[in-house]
Amino acid sequence: MLRYYALSAYFRQLFGCRVGKVPLDAGFSCPNRDGTLSAGGCSFCNERGSGTGRHGAGAGLRAQWDAWLARPFRRRPRLFLGYLQAYTNTHGPAARVRAVLEEAAALPGLAGLCVGTRPDCLDDEKARILAGLPVAELWLDMGLQSARDATLARVNRGHTVADFARAAELCQRHGIKVCAHLVAGLPGEGAGALSEGVAFLNALPVAGIKLHNLLVCRGAPLAADWRRGALRPLERGEYVDAVVRALAALRPDVVVHRLAADPAPGELLAPAWAAHKAETLAAVAAALDRADLWQGKALDQDAPVPLWFAPGSSPPPSLAPGAATPDAAPRA
Ligand code: SF4
Repeated sequence: MLRYYALSAYFRQLFGCRVGKVPLDAGFSCPNRDGTLSAGGCSFCNERGSGTGRHGAGAGLRAQWDAWLARPFRRRPRLFLGYLQAYTNTHGPAARVRAVLEEAAALPGLAGLCVGTRPDCLDDEKARILAGLPVAELWLDMGLQSARDATLARVNRGHTVADFARAAELCQRHGIKVCAHLVAGLPGEGAGALSEGVAFLNALPVAGIKLHNLLVCRGAPLAADWRRGALRPLERGEYVDAVVRALAALRPDVVVHRLAADPAPGELLAPAWAAHKAETLAAVAAALDRADLWQGKALDQDAPVPLWFAPGSSPPPSLAPGAATPDAAPRA
């Protein structure tokens, strides 16, 4: 049974079928790498910027889309969303942002778009461009990472918590759904900071969330701290406990897009357990079962049980165990 509102359940409600995501690299940079704010990047990020590098290798959006859809699938989803994942996809002149987003929206058979960005790279004009895209489904993936300004400064994010709140409210005015990203285990924070982040987001117009464990990646500034013993990544058990507490404290209407980070091949230095995402997800599910917790339970014990979880009842076939994965798209 689902104890949280997984993205797969949301898509089944919306489209009536399984939906996959196609990672797309549009060739943007980010203000924290191109010198606008800094050249060093966030301390947990490496030069890949969560991207596939396909744009740098000469593949346009259409070629990336076609190549992904031509791959073999164990269970092929009926529909696909494009996910502009690499770097900051609303950074730069509005005319370029419009051209790229409109090109992505026109990909053949595309069911919707997810657009990754930072809260300080969004203004009214860009929000209008996003809201005007001719797609049935649009999500803006926006990094908050921590609800503590001191942590954001420490990891060189280059924006504040208030910047995120302003951007989320701007999106609400334009009818854009925001998926917020949080990271557990950032330097100087205990695992419990994840629940602080959730409490902050609960008060904002945020429709989705991604929770990540901190990865120490090859090439990221944090790798040097880890090598000299100044950074201890969370153990899996610590992360699972933090996720369970965070889910119990999360508004039940917020769609859970992801519950664990996906390192790109070859980039993970630590923790070793992060290479086995399925085990982490299974541990979260088992811990929720053991504690008899579900998303939002800590907010209101007397609230009606959400549709995606009815204790003691059989789940509808579409939500049967094994049918749901928080995020089917491998991170590129
Ligand atoms: S995490 Fe995002 S904002 Fe930070 S350096 Fe990497 S691409 Fe830029």
